[in-house]
Amino acid sequence: MPNDSDIYFGDYSPTYLNEIYRARGSHGQIFLYYALLADLKPALDDWIYVDKLDEFISACEKYSLVVETESVFYDEGWSYDVRSAIGSEMLTTTIAQGAPVDAGYYGRVHLYVSKSGETLDRIKRTGWYPVCVNNRIVTKPIIDYYWFGEHLGYPKCCIDFFAKFNNHNAYRNTLMKPFENTKTKPNYLCNSLVKDSFCYLYHIPCSFDCTATAELSAKLRAFIQQYDPTYVEIIDRHLKLNFLVFRERDIYAFDGRPEGNILKYNNGGFVDKYLYPGILEDIFRQGDTLEILDDRIFVHAGDRMIKMILKTETEPWFFISFADD
Ligand SMILES: [Zn+2]
Repeated sequence: MPNDSDIYFGDYSPTYLNEIYRARGSHGQIFLYYALLADLKPALDDWIYVDKLDEFISACEKYSLVVETESVFYDEGWSYDVRSAIGSEMLTTTIAQGAPVDAGYYGRVHLYVSKSGETLDRIKRTGWYPVCVNNRIVTKPIIDYYWFGEHLGYPKCCIDFFAKFNNHNAYRNTLMKPFENTKTKPNYLCNSLVKDSFCYLYHIPCSFDCTATAELSAKLRAFIQQYDPTYVEIIDRHLKLNFLVFRERDIYAFDGRPEGNILKYNNGGFVDKYLYPGILEDIFRQGDTLEILDDRIFVHAGDRMIKMILKTETEPWFFISFADD
């Protein structure tokens, strides 16, 4: 959280896997490398700058992990021609020009990491992104999405759910579906809302109380605990926050513990500026209390109400708390 970065969403230099952290240039996804080592995940995909690739591959070798590169993505965000291509509604949020890794372009290399070369061979056949050829989008068959999810070690219930509902055209806030599917108290071990910083899972769970996801996260948490207890403590602290979720990557986090429909907080901030600017961040920084109703939220600063946020069809947000009881 930006107004208290010592406590929330700062950088973390891990004690174990530090060489991989340095070659990556950030701690995001480090928990997934632990998942490979713990045999909880067959493979992962990641992004490494071309000039860091050799350093990254040797860092992985130290931990007996093997790497397979896919292609280099350059001019990320380059989009007009692709966005206007026929079939562009099927694209994900990642858009770039692509080239073979050794073709001399500067950008981020999309690659796969695993303990096993055989797994790498399987995952690279299903992990490709849609391609734009002659103003037409070529997308992969639906079965490849399923196999890709399986190679990444996601629970079957979550793969099936994601395949049905992760449609950004049909649902502006795709995270609303797992929220609606949550029947008991949200479990912090199923919190995917901070997956690009401190987390135990990288998939969108079928619900925020998914049993399979919670079991997987608990195993990973116990494994990391043996190597880097401080990392576990920091991850837990981020997972047990409260969140206001407008859509994927448009998410605000708050500390504190809700009482009834009132949340008093010290820190409120935007989780991730990768896609959206966080237009409400200043308001939440000024405020100290959220009053959460079904169709609206009031933000209070002391005894003043400073903002009302209405729930509408175009802004179908939800509030969820993973704070301890
Ligand atoms: Zn699930």
